[in-house]
Amino acid sequence: MHKAHNGMYIDGTWRPAVGTEMITVVDPAGERPIGQVPAGTAEDIDAAVRAARTALPRWAATPPAERAALIGALHDRLVARKDEIAATVTAELGAPPPFAQAVHAGVPIAVCGSYAELAAAHPFEEKVGNSTVYLEPVGVVGAITPWNYPLHQIVNKVAPALAAGCTVVLKPAEDTPLTAQLFAEAVHEAGVPAGVFNLVTGLGPVAGQALAEHEGVDLVSFTGSTAVGRRIGATAGAAVKRVALELGGKSANVILPSADLAKAVAVGVANVMSNSGQTCSAWTRMLVHTDRYDEAVELAAAAAAKYGPRIGPVVNAKQRARVRGYIEKGVEEGARLVAGGPEAPKEQEQGYFVQPTVFADVTPEMTIAQEEIFGPVLSLIRYEDEDDALRIANGTVYGLAGAVWAADDAEAVAFARRMDTGQVDINGGSFNPLAPFGGYKQSGVGRELGAHGLAEYLQTKSLQF
Ligand code: NAP
Ligand code: MG
Repeated sequence: MHKAHNGMYIDGTWRPAVGTEMITVVDPAGERPIGQVPAGTAEDIDAAVRAARTALPRWAATPPAERAALIGALHDRLVARKDEIAATVTAELGAPPPFAQAVHAGVPIAVCGSYAELAAAHPFEEKVGNSTVYLEPVGVVGAITPWNYPLHQIVNKVAPALAAGCTVVLKPAEDTPLTAQLFAEAVHEAGVPAGVFNLVTGLGPVAGQALAEHEGVDLVSFTGSTAVGRRIGATAGAAVKRVALELGGKSANVILPSADLAKAVAVGVANVMSNSGQTCSAWTRMLVHTDRYDEAVELAAAAAAKYGPRIGPVVNAKQRARVRGYIEKGVEEGARLVAGGPEAPKEQEQGYFVQPTVFADVTPEMTIAQEEIFGPVLSLIRYEDEDDALRIANGTVYGLAGAVWAADDAEAVAFARRMDTGQVDINGGSFNPLAPFGGYKQSGVGRELGAHGLAEYLQTKSLQF
């Protein structure tokens, strides 16, 4: 596990925080403190933004191939420290070790590698008639990230920002700052010039807000709750600055009548239970045709029961209370509990564990079918025909992800094209680190990953001849 630094990474060095407040990091499986990091203030943010501004002209003028080489070096440092990354995410988030290795460490390494290639290959200049269009960096980026995929959310912002020629100030989640410090060490080891990347740990309403409001920041990139995202969007709008928001989801897993039901249910349950349900793109609503509904309920309940405590805890006591509250609400509103429930799992004497939970007889307007729970809770909803399924799938304020299952891909694609959502997996399609990821409707603004993610950090200038 990474050992905590008592400082901020600003302008290429670890320097003491201006204030004396500390954040205690807790292991959610053992409920024990595992480290302390400084709680940054507006003054720390200001120092970091100044460093990022000073470093900007030189970094923006660095040839893309050189920036690409440094992102490649960062990728190699992350690879070298893969076991430490996984152990740190397990310690501060509670992720089971195999999942921490494969996903929490593996995916950001792949994404960082993809940006090492894209930074070199991206066309930063194009011809349009008698004009030459230059794609130039937006400037200083304020990145604010959540705890659910601690390293992935950081790399999703920092790697494309650096590829574009932007400089960055990162404010990571208070629950998972150790992974962020480890990332800052890797950036330093890679030889990225001082001031290009800066880290200020701290609380959202203090350090996060100061970063979002700082006039030296040109683009705020935020991932987290809709409530905070709305505020950050309003602040950015008032200042006429760019903003990217990755917010919540309530995605639908649509199983069409012709689908392989057993496979669709098994993959669907695994999708919701992994990371203890703390995935913004999770398919938390499973939509099944009325003729096959009872069979799907039985399969889903059995699959969830098999998970037991293997899914790991949720991140903190507040999140556990919130998830349990939603499970109680589901029961109150008349949904039928077929696996799990609001009580702590029997096997677990300590830790913020929630039982893998499945609800049947969920109707589209129930709270558990409308609001993001962010825990291991799946709702099975019945539909009568395809139009009914589409109405239900599109019937929330969100539109982040989804899945469609059918006997052949063409049938699933026809349905997916009618969904109001940013990303859909067809018949269990696999994760693609180059595919654009982001929301329709209130799930957000902008895209991450691949060339589309890089474009968020660029602005265009055209010269006419
Ligand atoms: P959150 O408060 O939105 O946290 C996201 C990030 O924003 C954290 O770094 C947070 O700092 C920071 N932040 C908080 N208040 C801020 C403010 N006023 N100005 C600027 N930055 C601020 O989310 P949360 O409280 O951790 O989780 C609450 C719910 O959000 C979850 O139950 C889930 O539904 C949703 N969520 C969604 C995602 C996603 O990927 N879409 C991720 C996480 C959570 P602190 O860490 O100090 O709060
Ligand atoms: Mg918070």
